[in-house]
Amino acid sequence: MTSGPRQRLSVLTIGSVLSSGQGVNLRCACGHRTALLPGQISAMAHPETRVLDFKRRFRCSMCGASGASDDVRLTLFAVAAAFSDDEGARTETAPTTRPAN
Ligand SMILES: [Zn+2]
Repeated sequence: MTSGPRQRLSVLTIGSVLSSGQGVNLRCACGHRTALLPGQISAMAHPETRVLDFKRRFRCSMCGASGASDDVRLTLFAVAAAFSDDEGARTETAPTTRPAN
């Protein structure tokens, strides 16, 4: 294995991204950046949607570049910290849930 991206986006699904508390960052070559929080992502795609397919459906709202092209880069970012503001309400998430396939 050579050193590649930490997560293989080609096999990663929206569901696994959401369950790991991550958001999606889309950055276009024109400089436009879009950050999608899990709540937005879940409203846009089914959990079984692969991240790459999600990216391909994306289109830059500024220059119109297609997400299927290399102009648009997709990265993941952890957003769990952003939701830990309210101390009282901690959402219970299973730390190690693996899809038993
Ligand atoms: Zn653009």
